[in-house]
Amino acid sequence: MNYSDIRLAIANWYALNGRHDLPWRRTDDPYRIYISEMMLQQTQVKTVLERFYGPFLERFPTLQSVADASLDDLLHAWQGLGYYRRARYIHETAKRCAPDLPTEPEALMKLPGIGKSTAHAIAAFAAHRPVAVLDANVRRILHRFFAQKSRSEKILWNLAETLLDRTNPYTYNQAMMDIGATVCLPKAPLCGRCPLATRCRGKSDPLAYPAPAQKKRRPIKHQIYLWVEKQGKILMQKRKGEMLGGLWELPAVEKAPSEGKKVAEVVHDYTHFRRIAEIYEVKEEKGVEGEWLGKADLRDIALSSLERKIFEKLHFTL
Ligand code: SF4
Repeated sequence: MNYSDIRLAIANWYALNGRHDLPWRRTDDPYRIYISEMMLQQTQVKTVLERFYGPFLERFPTLQSVADASLDDLLHAWQGLGYYRRARYIHETAKRCAPDLPTEPEALMKLPGIGKSTAHAIAAFAAHRPVAVLDANVRRILHRFFAQKSRSEKILWNLAETLLDRTNPYTYNQAMMDIGATVCLPKAPLCGRCPLATRCRGKSDPLAYPAPAQKKRRPIKHQIYLWVEKQGKILMQKRKGEMLGGLWELPAVEKAPSEGKKVAEVVHDYTHFRRIAEIYEVKEEKGVEGEWLGKADLRDIALSSLERKIFEKLHFTL
C-alpha cells in the first residue's frame, strides 16, 4: 500500500506544529542526542528539559568528558532522574567509544542500554539514516492507524517500517513522536487535528487499540535499614550490584535488631516491585560495615530516591 499522502501530511504537520525548540533537536551531535534519548527512556520531556539536560551537558559537554569522569561523579549528576542503571551504561559506553559515538544502528545496538528504538533515534536524528523510531507514543499511533490489537514486537516493527518515510526520516520520526505526545493522546485522542486521520483505520474507536494489557500485581519486597547516628554523622554503605549499584544507602540488614527502635516505615515504588523499608535506630553498629558521613558529605554523593524519602521522614534535612 502507498502511504505517500500520509507521509506528506505528517511532514506538513511537523513544519507547523513540531516542537522544534527542544534543545536536542537543535543539534546533530550524536552525543547530545544520545544523552537526551537515555534521559527520555524513563523520564518525561518536561522534567528532562527543565531540570536535567542542560546541567548534565554543562558538566559533561562531550563523550570524552564522561569517559574521563568517575562513575561517582556521573551518578551524582544523575541524581533525581532515577533508573541509575542508565548512568552506568553511559559511563561504560563512553569508556568504550570516546571520543565519538557511532551513528550506525548496528554498532549502537551493541552498546549497553541502547535498544533498537534508541539506536534508531540516534541514527535518524544525528545522521538522517532511514530507520524508524518505536517509542511508546509511536506505538500507540501505529496500533490505532493500522487497527492493530496485537502487542507483538515483530508486528509493530513491521508496521513502523511500512509507514516510515525513508526519504525524510528525521522529520518523519520527530513528527510521529510529537503527534503521539500531543494529538494521538492515550485517553482522548484529538483525531480532528491529526494528519493521519484520513486513513486511520482505528479512529472510530481508538481506545480499542491495542487490546488491554493484562495487569500484573507489583510484588512487595521488605527491607530493614539501620539508622546509626554519632556526632552528627550517619553510617552509610555503597550499594553493589546491578540495581542502584554505586548509590549510597543506610546499612541494610536481614533481621530487625533486638536492641533497636523502629523509627520509620517508607514505601517506594520501582518499575517492577514495591519496596517497604523499615528503619530501626540503633546506638551501636556492631559488625556492620560502612562509612561515617556528615551532611556535607551526603550532599556530595549520589543517594537514591528512597534514601531521600527516609531522610525526609526522619527530619534529617540535607
Ligand atoms: S486519527 Fe485519531 S486515532 Fe488515528 S492516529 Fe490520529 S489521533 Fe490517533
